[in-house]
Amino acid sequence: MIDRTRLQSLIEKELQLFEETHPRSKALYERAKASLLDGVPMNWMVKWAGGFPLFVKEGSGAYFTDVDDHRYIDFCLGDTGSMTGHAPTGSVEAIADRVRKGVTFMLPTEDSIWVGEELTRRFGLPYWQVAVSATDANRFALRLARHITKRKYVLVFNYCYHGTVDETFVTLTDGDAHSRVSNIGPAIDPTMTTKVVEFNDIEALEKALAPGDVAAVLAEPAMTNIGIIQPEPGFLDALREITRRTGTLLIYDETHTMSAGPGGYTGAHGLKPDMLTVGKAIGSGIPTAVYGFSHEVAAMIRGSIDLEGADVGGIGGTLAGNALSMAAMRATLENVLTEEYFERNIALAERFADGVQSVIDEKQLPWIVKRLGCRTEYWFRDTAPRNGGEAAAAADYELDRYMHLYALNRGILMTPFHNMALISSQTTIEDIDYHTKVFRDSVEELLA
Ligand code: PMP
Repeated sequence: MIDRTRLQSLIEKELQLFEETHPRSKALYERAKASLLDGVPMNWMVKWAGGFPLFVKEGSGAYFTDVDDHRYIDFCLGDTGSMTGHAPTGSVEAIADRVRKGVTFMLPTEDSIWVGEELTRRFGLPYWQVAVSATDANRFALRLARHITKRKYVLVFNYCYHGTVDETFVTLTDGDAHSRVSNIGPAIDPTMTTKVVEFNDIEALEKALAPGDVAAVLAEPAMTNIGIIQPEPGFLDALREITRRTGTLLIYDETHTMSAGPGGYTGAHGLKPDMLTVGKAIGSGIPTAVYGFSHEVAAMIRGSIDLEGADVGGIGGTLAGNALSMAAMRATLENVLTEEYFERNIALAERFADGVQSVIDEKQLPWIVKRLGCRTEYWFRDTAPRNGGEAAAAADYELDRYMHLYALNRGILMTPFHNMALISSQTTIEDIDYHTKVFRDSVEELLA
């Protein structure tokens, strides 16, 4: 039903508008190409929908301005890193204070104990360690899982994303596992380390874990990185039961599903993983992440790791657990990502989803809108995908690009790679209703 020729010409029109209205970003991008690969400090930053990235001046709460002095409502929020809102008042003073008092010592500060106790209260696991990124937390959780179970494989779900973790870049094609398309320089073929099955497929999971050679399943309790995919009733119970029965550790990655509540999806649904990882937002964007584990896992770690060699053993990191990240986590958990935060923002995310749904209904579009706590997104197919394979097959790069760019040119930043919006404490009802209006306008132009 989408006229592709019209879509192409609308993208061209929006690209031109973007270029005309962002001369300073364009000039900085041209200059940056001489010293930064592709003109950006991190390769994903060229993947935005315009012909070049916006260069940011500053952000506050739910908004930021670019170097051309345009103001944006930020629904991307650093793809979750700034889910707190930019420079949140509840943590910014504690962070600045800690910077003045010393950032890193390779010694613990008292804040780390407060953080450990609070993580236990929220997620239910008794022991915690700190890493610099969610990627690292996942890497360390997998290394520990292999070490203590003495098993070779890990299992992930098709089209998962858990950071730049070698073992996770495996996808299924016609039922066979392959190194993921665009996987850059894998040390070995990742199918040698990893089994992959579709999310919500209990039978395949049972079969993959039956030989008893999988150390751990690493999973988001609801998938978020190929669009939101909810677990079907009974799936997470089956996952827990089968992993337990086969002696496989279950690791939940709550980095994105934290949007479901103060204790993430795990807290909201009373899940009982053996290990849990979470990063990005928990330090208000200051790089930090945590991984937690049960009494049983802690006992196995203690019983099997030679502390003499721990500093070169492949987990940890010089900057991990530094004083700044501990102060940031403490202030964020204490004052920002609170019960009230989730209550307020989940209600606003419902309003966001309802607004998009009203346009979908009105225009009779074969699209859906999905929500996971304060995270919402729309998807260009008419039923919710059951798994990563179904979701990936529905990806529409051109339509994605048009919707992003149309919003961007009208002062709204959505999350790149998919049409996702996060709600921060400072996002207002007016911001959400403005998004609904812009969404409607973009659809009307498309269908005109
Ligand atoms: N886990 C999940 C679920 C993620 O979505 C991501 C990043 N998008 C990561 C881990 C890795 O986070 P980081 O890139 O900050 O290490």
